[in-house]
Amino acid sequence: MSDNRIPEDLPDHIQHYIDGAFVDSQDGDTFDVLDPVTNENYTTAAAGKKADIDLAVAAAKRAFDEGPWPKMLPRERSRVLHRIADIVESRDERLAELESFDSGLPITQALGQARRAAENFRFFADLIVAQADDTFKVPGRQINYVNRKPIGVAGLITPWNTPFMLESWKLGPALATGNTVVLKPAEFTPLSASLWAGIFEEAGLPQGVFNLVNGLGEDAGDALVKHPDVPLISFTGESRTGQIIFAGAAPYLKGLSMELGGKSPAVVFADADLDAAVNATIFGVFSLNGERCTAGSRILVEQSIYDEFVEKYAAQAKRVKVGLPSDPTTEVGALVHPEHYEKVMSYVEIGKTEGRLVAGGGRPEGFETGNYVAPTVFADVMPDARIFQEEIFGPVVAITPFSSDEEALALANNTKYGLAAYIWTNDLKRAHNFAGNVEAGMVWLNSNNVRDLRTPFGGVKASGLGHEGGYRSIDFYTDQQAVHINL
Ligand code: NAD
Repeated sequence: MSDNRIPEDLPDHIQHYIDGAFVDSQDGDTFDVLDPVTNENYTTAAAGKKADIDLAVAAAKRAFDEGPWPKMLPRERSRVLHRIADIVESRDERLAELESFDSGLPITQALGQARRAAENFRFFADLIVAQADDTFKVPGRQINYVNRKPIGVAGLITPWNTPFMLESWKLGPALATGNTVVLKPAEFTPLSASLWAGIFEEAGLPQGVFNLVNGLGEDAGDALVKHPDVPLISFTGESRTGQIIFAGAAPYLKGLSMELGGKSPAVVFADADLDAAVNATIFGVFSLNGERCTAGSRILVEQSIYDEFVEKYAAQAKRVKVGLPSDPTTEVGALVHPEHYEKVMSYVEIGKTEGRLVAGGGRPEGFETGNYVAPTVFADVMPDARIFQEEIFGPVVAITPFSSDEEALALANNTKYGLAAYIWTNDLKRAHNFAGNVEAGMVWLNSNNVRDLRTPFGGVKASGLGHEGGYRSIDFYTDQQAVHINL
């Protein structure tokens, strides 16, 4: 494999960013960061602990209590956020190159995610200026109005899939509303997060408003969750980690936003446009290497078209191009880390005992090293199978037949998760009724996974608590104080 895939000027060390300065951990500890194509260490990152979190929270609290940011007019903050969006946009190719290298995501998809990060900032920059708060008048008696206030230091804890974009989805609204932040990015992928500091400095974000501490979840993440001066935690990650964070935050009664795991169904009825359904459900589970929270990783197919669907789907899965993350023709790159690769491969082996393997099933030919998994499809998977119930978070999909609308709904709802659902049918009534009854925070009808940033984003059941997106993000990051005046 040629080395022209390695970006120029990779840092030989990644530091924290606290109170406007790049610093190492108080105890000097570091962790290794791996290149997912070779699994060799390509850099080290400072491994933050409680002492580093304490410094970062103190800086963020000072910037909140004494600095200009929370008191600025929304349109002044908005200008800074627009500058951030401009800078991100102008560096989208570099960002994508670094993200793809660090995470193993295909370069074309990483580029889309970089642009989406810019769009997130632009969206919240506009929304905060358009924000109008409630006023209620009782004629001749009372006026009631709402004071909306930033809350303080927001703790942001993010995962390694599309890391830069998911960080922007929290940073944008947290900053737009006047909070200060401490970001704890995922330890598998610290590279792109290290770029925020320079971007924010250039855009004119005041010192201390943005702080970043790298490190392991159980050290730096845990200290952030349990810090008494951090009233808000916005977390995206596994449901199991969400439970631990809930427990850690409980004694402090913190505000929590939880975007967690998924095992989302894609339901294909016999009257659907079959080719469109095959294309979309292929993309739905194999894009972003299958490391996608809203992946349609269980496909439920009506019995009368089941054999035809499975045949077409398997043939198309075999055509999905696995390759170097840096190659623009690649559709599935390398999984993020050897630990995650082992997890996904263990599910591939479990799947061989639980379903009929019709595509993939292991390491693709020609890839001797790195975290490569061939797009893998199991048919005839029963609902009690582990590959039907458990989030795999890789390019692995389970297909299951159904015979009636009722059975399809029961199968769709038969997991602990409830993040997304995809429904393919040309029967309008059936589509809307199914959407109303399926246990999912988000439903796509005859659609690819695209969404308007104003809509609520979030899951039900084990997939999360609370919603982000549009005004819901503004609500999470602000207190709404009711003021009443008797006339
Ligand atoms: P993870 O839960 O292992 O880690 C996420 C973050 O939490 C990391 O920064 C990690 O260091 C930190 N963390 C781990 N243990 C912690 C602890 N005890 N206290 C505080 N912080 C801790 O998740 P991951 O493997 O990085 O990401 C994949 C998961 O994220 C999948 O389950 C996926 O579905 C989910 N996800 C959900 C959404 C969504 O919007 N619902 C989006 C993307 C990813």
